[in-house]
Amino acid sequence: MSQKSLVDELQQLQLAVELIELGARLQVLETETEISRARLVKLYKEVRGVSPPKGMLPFSTDWFMTWQPNLHASLFHGFYRRLRSQGVPRMDAFVKAYRFYLEHVGEEEPVLALTRAWTLVRFFESELLDLATCQTCTGHFVIHAHTPSHDYVCGICQPPSRAGKTAARRKAREQDMQREALAVKLG
Ligand SMILES: [Zn+2]
Repeated sequence: MSQKSLVDELQQLQLAVELIELGARLQVLETETEISRARLVKLYKEVRGVSPPKGMLPFSTDWFMTWQPNLHASLFHGFYRRLRSQGVPRMDAFVKAYRFYLEHVGEEEPVLALTRAWTLVRFFESELLDLATCQTCTGHFVIHAHTPSHDYVCGICQPPSRAGKTAARRKAREQDMQREALAVKLG
C-alpha cells in the first residue's frame, strides 16, 4: 500500500472495519481492499476479539434458490440495485444495502449473512445469477442465469407445501418483505 495515499488507506481500513463488524469473512476483505492479509488478520482480531475463521467459502448459487434464502437474497439485492441506480459506489451500496436488509429483517442471526450477500453480488457480476419478475406480484426475484423466466412465480406467491407449516408470524413477515420488494421495484 506504499503507493497509495493516506486517505485511500484510511478509507480502505474504514471499509474493512465496517465489513468485519457486519460479519465479513477474510476472503471478502482480501478481495475488496488492498490491505495485506497479515494486517487484515490483525484488524479482524482487534475488531472481533477472535481470529478469523479459516477455510474457503463454500457457497454455491444453489443456496440462493432455496425458498427462504431466495426471499432474503431478493430483498437484499433490491436494496442494492436501488442504491446502485442512484449512483452510489459499489461497496458503499453494498454496505448500505446490507444495513437496510438487517434493519428490515430485524434478526440476530439473519438468513443472509454478510458474506453470503457479498457472494450474491459477485454471482450477479459474473452473470451466474439473474432476476425474474413474478407474474403474480411483479416483484423481482433471484434466479439462475439463462433459465426461462416468462412464467416465473415467486416463493411468496407460491410457497412450497412445507412452508405452509411455518408460523403465522413468519408469514406476516414474508408479506412485509413482499411489500418492501414492491416498494424497491417502484422506488
Ligand atoms: Zn410473487
